[in-house]
Amino acid sequence: MMTKDKLRQLTGDERLGQDRESEYLGAEDIDDGIEPVLTIEALWNGVVTLQRGKERKDVLSFKEERVPGIRQVRPLIVNATNRKTLRKLYGDAKASTLVGKQIQLYIDHKVRDPQDGTLTDGIRVRPFRPRVQEEPPAPVCADCGQAIQPAMGKSAQYLAAYTEKNYGAPLCAACAQTRKERAAENEEAAAAEEAPL
Ligand SMILES: [Zn+2]
Repeated sequence: MMTKDKLRQLTGDERLGQDRESEYLGAEDIDDGIEPVLTIEALWNGVVTLQRGKERKDVLSFKEERVPGIRQVRPLIVNATNRKTLRKLYGDAKASTLVGKQIQLYIDHKVRDPQDGTLTDGIRVRPFRPRVQEEPPAPVCADCGQAIQPAMGKSAQYLAAYTEKNYGAPLCAACAQTRKERAAENEEAAAAEEAPL
């Protein structure tokens, strides 16, 4: 495509709406289906410049610069709905309470536009504390009681499943080796017993 304007072609993961010129986070900044979790860095209040003019607003800034679902984390203007949610979530909306707390954002597709009354997308704060993505607990070796460490290019989970299948118990690499040697010795001993003298 050729125009007199210098346009930059978007490729790959780049998407429409991502380079919107705004100082503040908007629904366009958040990828579909992702609910980013952000940590509140500070609370602000002042006159902000919006498309429809200047207004006094509350603003949250965040510690993260980039999280899954947001290419560039910008401060969030807090509307009345989100302020209410924050109060419900953490008891009050004081700086001393909210700084350092995490919030989970989502897009509400049925926000009424204050200008023309049409439905639009808006950023909302989930009324629950973010679900922390917990790592599955490290499997423990049945013989030595230590957490199984990745070994030989295999993950701890893989080793646990492999040894469970072959030795009937999750084992670390060292204990699996010991059991293997012991089994070989027992076999030799059994073979020696059976062998005619
Ligand atoms: Zn072990």
